[in-house]
Amino acid sequence: MQIIDGKKLAQQIRREIAKEVEELKASRDITPGLAVILVGDDPASHAYVKMKAKACKEAGIYSITHEMPESISQNEIEETILMMNKNPNIDGILVQLPLPTHIDATKILELIDPAKDVDGFHPYNFGRLMTGLDGFVPCTPLGVMEMLEAYGIDPKGKDACVVGASNIVGKPMAALLLNAFATVDICHIYTKDLAAHTKQADILVVGVGKAGLITEDMVKEGAVVIDIGINRLEDGSLTGDVDYEGVAPKCSHITPVPGGVGPMTIAMLLKNTLKAAKDRS
Ligand code: NAD
Repeated sequence: MQIIDGKKLAQQIRREIAKEVEELKASRDITPGLAVILVGDDPASHAYVKMKAKACKEAGIYSITHEMPESISQNEIEETILMMNKNPNIDGILVQLPLPTHIDATKILELIDPAKDVDGFHPYNFGRLMTGLDGFVPCTPLGVMEMLEAYGIDPKGKDACVVGASNIVGKPMAALLLNAFATVDICHIYTKDLAAHTKQADILVVGVGKAGLITEDMVKEGAVVIDIGINRLEDGSLTGDVDYEGVAPKCSHITPVPGGVGPMTIAMLLKNTLKAAKDRS
């Protein structure tokens, strides 16, 4: 069994990105720029945004955070996005989710210029992903694909199972695996017999948000198991959706939580921002 070290891989990718940013500055006088919109006081959202800003700084990417109060209106957020769309120094726009319930998040995300949609949440980019065209791919599933590649795991011809079918994790994950020629099963809360699906998988990717959902008896011998889930336990520690202790001995490869997919997500945000900057006309 091999542990997929997302932390180490992400550090390596971040160093490569920093080098490319340097080159872009030197060759075209372009400093990649990321604008983050952060609404409300959710501690987890603030922590994520802080980590993203730090990662940008280390990579030489300019970043600015627009902090807005919980009571902000839909109109004010929309105006900020329109302003960022026009700003030539901003290559990427990211709206930290979740947004307060009085805000129409779909409308907000659809307002982002698809060429600046570094989170890959715009339906235009999702459509491009589904049709196998180049565009922005959501950072978490993109990070999973980079992990598979780095560890020499080719999804082609494999049976893959994605548990969780959200627009930002499960669905794009399934599309990427399908584009890489895996046969993909997608499971969700209404799946009748989850284990019947997971047990078939050569590559099992889980992104649900339920600690201990995947147990040893649900995993095929020799499977690759990727755990996207992040759950905070009562003692404050983080854990994934997979019962790591039970499942790990059965796998060929497994990602830990923390130190697996999480660090890759941030590295992919930098990668997408660099891509947007390189595509500046
Ligand atoms: P979400 O709540 O939007 O979606 C959860 C999905 O899981 C849904 O499709 C739902 O149908 C499915 N589901 C719920 N209970 C289930 C069950 N018992 N069996 C099978 N499927 C079930 O969540 P999300 O935004 O997609 O995030 C999923 C998890 O991934 C969360 O733990 C989140 O914190 C984590 N996450 C991690 C990263 C990272 O960088 N590692 C990034 C994004 C999300």
